[in-house]
Amino acid sequence: MRIFDPHIHMTSRTTDDYERMYAAGVRAVVEPAFWLGQPRTSPASFADYFDGLLGWEPYRAAQFGIVHHCTIALNPKEANDPRLRGVLDLLPRYLAKDRVVAVGEVGYDEISPAEDEALTRQLALAAEQGLPVLVHTPHRDKAAGTRRTIDVVRESGLPPERVLIDHLNEMTVGMVADSGCWMGFSVYPDTKMDVDRMVTILKDHGLDRVLVNSAADWGRSDPLKTRAVGDAMLAAGFSEADVDTVLWANPVAFYGQSGRLDLSGVAAQATEATITAAAVAAGGDYAGNTVLRGSPA
Ligand SMILES: [Zn+2]
Repeated sequence: MRIFDPHIHMTSRTTDDYERMYAAGVRAVVEPAFWLGQPRTSPASFADYFDGLLGWEPYRAAQFGIVHHCTIALNPKEANDPRLRGVLDLLPRYLAKDRVVAVGEVGYDEISPAEDEALTRQLALAAEQGLPVLVHTPHRDKAAGTRRTIDVVRESGLPPERVLIDHLNEMTVGMVADSGCWMGFSVYPDTKMDVDRMVTILKDHGLDRVLVNSAADWGRSDPLKTRAVGDAMLAAGFSEADVDTVLWANPVAFYGQSGRLDLSGVAAQATEATITAAAVAAGGDYAGNTVLRGSPA
């Protein structure tokens, strides 16, 4: 089973996770820029974070046989802090970079005027740069928030096939299916969507325009939930080709619209799940650093 996790925050995860993900079949990930838990206080913190998503983290993923791309945005939660408005001015420079395959995560948290402005400006940037967009839906008041999100996306004039609306559930999947946008589902250990509900949604709605992700981050989450969904699909009678559609072909099709998805590294990568000191040494370092602690003696 080959897996592309289209939404995972690897900056928050350990090398053990990378090893387990590789062993489970994960060969590619997209890491959306998001909230780090600790509020940031200046645009400069975002510049360093964006540089990490484009530099150190893809280097680190490659050490474990996984191809890493990212999405860049001012997230909805921090869009409410007036000190961070300057982040919107940083975005055009970052959105032009090779490994950026979408604008995201954008969307609503509390549905405030500041969030409205950040969302509208970032949808316009996506249109200008010809990039897909990853849109987060609020966890509270999800149906109303998702309805509002779909309306704003429609008003932006972006083609719906370039928009992924994420963190959906049984209540919101129908309206997003009707909108023509892509449908994202984040499968968590004990909140929101779980594996069995996900399989039921796939049975009811089909596989078209559906993406499944772990959204694993610094909170209670599990980077192997994509694999768990694949196994549960097979147990429920879906074919291996169906699993490949949801866990590989669909994310490739969605992010491929950026023209920047480069999966040439997938075939060339090592077949060993556990990284060796020799492999790291052969791969060179990144800004004088590797994933090894100390030199490989
Ligand atoms: Zn996320």
